[in-house]
Amino acid sequence: MSHLFPNYHRSPITFVKAENNSLYDSSGKAYLDFSSGIGVTNLGFHSALVASLSEQVQTLWHTPNLYQNPLQEEVADLLIGERDYLAYFCNSGAESNEAAIKLARKATGKSDIIAFKNSFHGRTFGAMSATGQEKIQKGFGPLLSGFQYASFNDLASVEALISENTAAVMLELVQGESGVHPADKAFIKGLETLCHEQNILLIVDEVQTGMGRTGTLFAFEQYEIEPDIVTLAKGLANGVPVGAMLGRTSLAHAFGPGSHGSTFGGNVLAMSASKATLQILKEPGFLEEASAKGDYLMTQLKDKLQDCVSVFDLRGLGLMVGIETSLELSKVVEQARAGGLILLTAGTNTIRLLPPLTVTSAEIDQAVNVLQKVLA
Ligand SMILES: *Cc1c(COP(=O)(O)O)cnc(C)c1O
Repeated sequence: MSHLFPNYHRSPITFVKAENNSLYDSSGKAYLDFSSGIGVTNLGFHSALVASLSEQVQTLWHTPNLYQNPLQEEVADLLIGERDYLAYFCNSGAESNEAAIKLARKATGKSDIIAFKNSFHGRTFGAMSATGQEKIQKGFGPLLSGFQYASFNDLASVEALISENTAAVMLELVQGESGVHPADKAFIKGLETLCHEQNILLIVDEVQTGMGRTGTLFAFEQYEIEPDIVTLAKGLANGVPVGAMLGRTSLAHAFGPGSHGSTFGGNVLAMSASKATLQILKEPGFLEEASAKGDYLMTQLKDKLQDCVSVFDLRGLGLMVGIETSLELSKVVEQARAGGLILLTAGTNTIRLLPPLTVTSAEIDQAVNVLQKVLA
């Protein structure tokens, strides 16, 4: 009998080994990983991570945030470059969003945050309260007060919720967990303008869309905006738990010494993995190639799945792709797995593909081939 809480749907498979973009189970069967461990191992099981983690673990694996941490400075520098941000490190996506909510409230002195229907921001109380999905919140009330939910891609619905208490608007640029729904560019540009005019902070949750997932380091680059606060986690250290919040330098006054913190946040082991990850993501041409692979994947899916009557829609950005289907998702996932392909689902009717950014054209062909059979 298991001594674990039954809070996850676990497949009856144990992965015991990984190499590049493939996982191996206890029977030795190989699987092409088109989930990246839910958008985490964006570089696959890369040897650079093995090298940096091995070296770090033999030198020093933890110091508290009461001392200098040059690796945090280096990672912050790699993330921020010439932009006008400061970084705060934590351990997860939910925690990065908690930090964002706290920073926004303290910096503005206002309490309300406009989030969106069908969003996903994590499972802690603040992040869950920002998450506009009843199924995530049900049974856990009372939630944190001050959250309202606008309709995604509907600027008027945001405007209608703004009051003198509004501190921030918070959203994903591609709603991930609820079905891979990219925001419209005009909506996001309009939202940025609206926030500037009304003196409201714009928080962009890039926990899933960040770290090259959508073809640029951050998805906000493609939307041509500069959010006030950005949250990151999943792909930030390619599998080592870490989260980060980037916030405008002008917000620094709200996060003075003692205002917020984390015991483990940004520890040297996580930072060494994050540094190695960012150095690869920032290699000249790397993200351009990932973006081109996203285009290739979408082209192949459009071509090979065009006769699948079960497929209603293909959408995405970069290597974050949703396939909307009438088939039962658990069956699709199971059949694909039997065919050696690991998939994710999103929402109630969408297969979600988050392949490593290092995926090869041959691996894309292999995956599309399995999908074609399973979705036929
Ligand atoms: C996964 C996810 C989170 C939560 O991250 P955790 O590390 O599980 O807390 C928050 N926001 C978005 C957009 C996510 O995809």
